[in-house]
This record gives sequence, structure tokens and C-alpha cells, in this order.
Amino acid sequence: MARYREAVCRLCRREGVKLFLKGQRCLTDKCEIEKRNFAPGQHGKSRRPKVVGYGLQLREKQKLRRLYGILEDQFRSYFEKAARMKGITGENLLLMLERRLDNAVYRMGLASSRAAARQLVRHGHIQVSGRKVNIPSFAVVPGQEIALRESSRNMVAVLRSLDLSGGRNIPPWLQFDREGLKARVISLPKREDVNFPIQEQMVVELYSK
Ligand code: SF4
Repeated sequence: MARYREAVCRLCRREGVKLFLKGQRCLTDKCEIEKRNFAPGQHGKSRRPKVVGYGLQLREKQKLRRLYGILEDQFRSYFEKAARMKGITGENLLLMLERRLDNAVYRMGLASSRAAARQLVRHGHIQVSGRKVNIPSFAVVPGQEIALRESSRNMVAVLRSLDLSGGRNIPPWLQFDREGLKARVISLPKREDVNFPIQEQMVVELYSK
């Protein structure tokens, strides 16, 4: 499976916002955005162009894509599905991304970043309604139960992440059972559950050209 392998802090610096791609480090003063909040590259510090129009749309799209760790082709296919659905395309897109299994695992606090959550899923540590699911893009639906497999309950990375995520808000569409290391999907996510500053309408405008 193709994935981005370069330094991820560059992505945050490019977007000028914390995308929380490195787990614990993102919460410390070692965060690159805290230390060097300017675009990467030779001229990043000296040039601060005003971003408008197409540039702004592109930045919003890249921000959203990078936040969820999705490559361009898959992101576009999400957009095309969202455009075919009833309702507001931008919201549909956002909520489809939110329903991904790796995102749900991250939201539960079982992993310190979405990339770490994806690895948990890929390595078979996650069950959905009692069955192993190792597809990070699996879309969860209300009624399902997402759980860490019994044999994975003592993983140090998971326990550490749970400790660290004490302050992270678990969204209302997930009912988390800390003792059981599982969560029930009680509803579909809503727009207000996405607590990240993003103008999804810009993404729609970009792809609708
Ligand atoms: Fe982004 Fe985290 Fe790196 Fe900070 S530490 S720049 S939030 S990935």
C-alpha cells in the first residue's frame, strides 16, 4: 500500500497548522510548529505569499488530505462518492473520512496518531463486532462495536496512548468503554464533531472546476 514516507512535520509547517501526525511529540515544545512556524524549504522563512483563490482551495484540500493521511487518488475517490450522495458534498466528504476505522481507533485514544491507528488496524489488532478487520478505510456504521483484540490489550503503545489521550475529547458518536477497550458506534458523526478548522467547501470548489 502506497503511503507518504517523508518527514511529516514539514506537512504541518506547509499548512501552518498542527495536524497531529507524530503522536506524543505534537503535544510537547519539540513540535516543529512551535519552534519554526514557517513554510519548509530554502525560502520558507523569507517569503510569505498571500494565499487567495485557487491557492487557498488547494491548501484546504491538502490540509484535509494530510490530516487523515490519505493519498491523492483515494482522496479524490472519496470526493466523487461524496458528490454522488444526497446532502452537502463537503460535509459528506468530511464525515466519510471521519467514519474510517483508523480514525475511529485514533478518536478512541488507542493510538497516539492516525498513522499509529492505521498500523494497529493493518496489523490485525482491531475487531469490529467480533470480527478482525484490517482495512483502515473500513467505514464504521451505527450499531457496530470497535474493540482491541483480547491478545493485544497489553500493548505498551496502546496503554501509553490511552494515558496520553486522557484529555482528548471522544466524539459523541462513539461510546467508549475504557475498561473494555472498546467503543460502540451510536450514531453517524455530525459536522460539529469534526473539531479541526477546515473549510470543506473550498475542497468542493477546487474539485468542481
Ligand atoms: Fe505537526 Fe506533530 Fe510535527 Fe508538530 S510535532 S509539526 S503537530 S507532526
